[in-house]
Amino acid sequence: MSYSQQVFDELKGRYADQPEFLQAVQEVLTTLQPALDKNPAYQRNKILERIVEPERIFQFRVEWVDDKGEIQVNRGYRVQFNSAIGPYKGGLRFHPTVNLGVLKFLGFEQIFKNSLTGTPIGGAKGGSDFDPKGKSDNEVMRFCQAFMVQLHRYIGALVDVPAGDIGVGGREIGYLYGAYKRLTTKYEGVLTGKPLNFGGSLARTEATGYGTVYFAQEMLKARGESLEGKKCAVSGAGNVAIYCCEKLYQVGATPVTVSDSRGMIYDPNGIKVDVLKQVKEVERASLTRYAELVPTAQYTARDDYPAGRNAVWSVPVDAAFPCATQNEVNVEDAKCLLANGCKCVAEGANMPSSIEAINEFLKSGIAYGPAKAANAGGVATSQLEMEQNAGMTAWTFDEVDGKLHNIMTGIYNAAAETAREFGCEGNLVLGANIAGFRKVADAMIAQGVI
Ligand code: NDP
Repeated sequence: MSYSQQVFDELKGRYADQPEFLQAVQEVLTTLQPALDKNPAYQRNKILERIVEPERIFQFRVEWVDDKGEIQVNRGYRVQFNSAIGPYKGGLRFHPTVNLGVLKFLGFEQIFKNSLTGTPIGGAKGGSDFDPKGKSDNEVMRFCQAFMVQLHRYIGALVDVPAGDIGVGGREIGYLYGAYKRLTTKYEGVLTGKPLNFGGSLARTEATGYGTVYFAQEMLKARGESLEGKKCAVSGAGNVAIYCCEKLYQVGATPVTVSDSRGMIYDPNGIKVDVLKQVKEVERASLTRYAELVPTAQYTARDDYPAGRNAVWSVPVDAAFPCATQNEVNVEDAKCLLANGCKCVAEGANMPSSIEAINEFLKSGIAYGPAKAANAGGVATSQLEMEQNAGMTAWTFDEVDGKLHNIMTGIYNAAAETAREFGCEGNLVLGANIAGFRKVADAMIAQGVI
């Protein structure tokens, strides 16, 4: 049995109750064997056994008082997964589905993603099963303050720098930052994704969505193609999806779908980004509101989707951008996209495709950009925010966007070249995993058993 299989089998027994974590590990380990064969030092130093275990996990109770005066209790977490190449960095997710297994999957992915950006940041993730949806601003503020009462002990500008993720945007980061400052009296770049008037970076809001499109452009360029004139399916209607749509228009493509947890919009004329921003960023409403505002938009409720399928992927398109959440593309969805002529998939969300769906994409030979490479623009720009905070300076939008674009090109090149090095040209899953892994593994060996 191979080394990677042996480590995975042991892990399966130990964490049988964490399916998302096991899925993320399996996706990485199944591609690493060629690199492990090439350098026996990885096995000798038990790198796989070490890299699949978080360095540290904090789990805490978060108690707060809602607007009716009732006490509420949520669970909070921070998983500090790997600090071999830099301080921990990774988002916070506030969503009712959050549990330790979900955060371990996200933290594990973050190690390799952060490594791929070429910047010195380690991997982490955190969050809570708190649901900001339907809460007043005051309730969100009180929750964030209670969450930070615990979290502030474990983070710092050179220790661990959280950011946003699902359910955590500029509003939440603002409240979390205020609470950190009150508790520690430190005005430091301890969180990224901050509003612009107190240390936020221009282009951070746009970065993940823009970066995913830059990555798709690089994949297509290598094949002598481009996004110009292409019809695209986008899922999600949050931060990543909105700015993915915006950039698609800028490069001459047309996004024709978006979705949220309750349903999807299809509009053959193209999604109206200004209306989407108004509905999701300002009104925080459902996409039914978008359908009220845009007469050409066709709304399908989630309850009317075909069983076990995501209706977004049944729309015939040239390119697909999953930007909502994990496991939103199953093998049937993948087959449907391919049968309808889809030639490019770039993942804005984390682990949106099941392992079987990934295998379909790879088998078909289309341009497939896995999440940890394609959506790394968010964390890369967070690192640029850290750099600006450390230098007490602020760069222009074009400066940050230019650096983001270069980083995405660099990630594509690293993944493509590594795939070529191992005789698997075009397999960016293998290329990204090995390129991300080697840097972290080499650093772990150099730092000894600690
Ligand atoms: P947001 O909270 O801004 O938006 C998430 C969107 O996805 C919303 O439209 C939400 O619908 C929808 N959604 C969430 N959960 C589900 C679900 N279970 N089923 C269907 N739809 C769902 O989050 P982001 O845009 O920030 O994050 C989206 C994805 O991108 C996540 O996988 C995240 O980990 C990943 N990512 C984000 C980065 C960032 O910089 N923000 C960086 C890298 C990756 P509704 O509006 O109804 O809640």
